[in-house]
Amino acid sequence: MTFTNIPPTAELQALDAAHHMHPFTENASLARKGARIITRAEGVWLTDSTGAQLIDGMAGLWCVNIGYGRGELAEVAARQMRELPYYNTFFQTTHIPALQLAARLAELAPEGLNHVFFAGSGSEANDTNIRLVRHYWTLKGAPERKVIISRRNGYHGSSMGSGSLGGMAAMHAQGGMPIPDIVHIDQPYWYGEGGDQTPEEFGRARARQLEEKILEIGPERVAAFIAEPVQGAGGVIIPPESYWPEIQRIVDHYGILLIADEVITGFGRLGEWFGSIAYGIRPHVMTIAKGLSSGYQPIGGSIICDEVAEVIGGDEFNHGYTYSGHPVAAAVALENLRILEEEGVIARVRETTAPYLARAWGSLADHPLVGEAVSRGLMASLALTPDKARRARFASDPGDVGYICREYCFANDLVMRHVGDRMIIAPPLVITLAEIDILISRARKALDQTLEHLEREGLMQPAAA
Ligand SMILES: *Cc1c(COP(=O)(O)O)cnc(C)c1O
Repeated sequence: MTFTNIPPTAELQALDAAHHMHPFTENASLARKGARIITRAEGVWLTDSTGAQLIDGMAGLWCVNIGYGRGELAEVAARQMRELPYYNTFFQTTHIPALQLAARLAELAPEGLNHVFFAGSGSEANDTNIRLVRHYWTLKGAPERKVIISRRNGYHGSSMGSGSLGGMAAMHAQGGMPIPDIVHIDQPYWYGEGGDQTPEEFGRARARQLEEKILEIGPERVAAFIAEPVQGAGGVIIPPESYWPEIQRIVDHYGILLIADEVITGFGRLGEWFGSIAYGIRPHVMTIAKGLSSGYQPIGGSIICDEVAEVIGGDEFNHGYTYSGHPVAAAVALENLRILEEEGVIARVRETTAPYLARAWGSLADHPLVGEAVSRGLMASLALTPDKARRARFASDPGDVGYICREYCFANDLVMRHVGDRMIIAPPLVITLAEIDILISRARKALDQTLEHLEREGLMQPAAA
């Protein structure tokens, strides 16, 4: 098959329906409907098998930070495949892409985070983190420190370990999660759960749940706290400004490890290299993936502080993946980091694109269906509501209205995702101001159509308070 001569869409859809199981999808209903077939992409634009051009408001899955179509990454991958397509780093051996990428990440990461353990994905990296922090405490003579505290509606991946760290109830309901010694506290989601408190009061109260949980479990049993600087898959939930300083105080006071899951917030999404820099937090470990390679190759990892790396280094860590530090993936990641740096992509997000998006996205708050429209860096979300003044939920099942809105977005050639009844975007960092205007106008049109649909079907009903 060539790129220009694509078989008929219906034929491809039938093959997909017959043999390809999609992640996080009700496959039987997708099979009836037919998946949209994406054939190529450039910048922030996707092309499908019918020739339609979609604007990708989600940067793939939060990962294509430098945008599609960067031939430099293809060149680097081809060169690396010819030279050394694969070698492991288990046998007291290393290779240039892995060591250079580790050194580069140590330069970019906050002070004191100088050691990288590679994985193939964010899920794998968080599985590494579970074993890393527990083994660290064992080596420190505190093997009873096993409990990792995480948050409801957090997302840390989909393997048994990382899915357990996550706080997604729908995931925990399938297949025996969470694994033991992982406990969850509530999220800092003011719009949905803040009641009559101010955002600042609520942020502090939610942070203090960490302290209450540590005291309930016993500080001598707690290994670590893990969280995303801004929750992504949970619905782009931006914590109140009071939240992270209070979390940092508690982590410092009880001497537990802080793991910042930077899989989405790393590599420029918040206008800094890492979300931890944007929020001024000092993690011991950062999880990375997605934007590390802009999704051009699967690669993830943990960036680890000197103290933890030194303790772990004193013993054989019985852990690793065949593709840890894969040379092609590492070479592509290095090229991606070079482009982010040399083209000033992150500074442009901070100084130009994020402020512009904040205004343009914020303007959607005047829509009758929108309860809030918020952004931080190039992550943004809106809450759909039948009653703006009361921040009310819909009487329909959570997510029904969000799904309807998502369908109108898709029909208008905009990829905007729904999480429950929140609509979210995280476009490639290279999006232009003109493209932001296009995104917003398609979003507004989809909101108008959703409102019309809800009114027609009698769905603009608030849930009983
Ligand atoms: C996507 C994601 C992960 C999991 O990464 P995979 O590469 O899909 O395994 C972990 N943490 C966060 C915050 C993510 O958004």
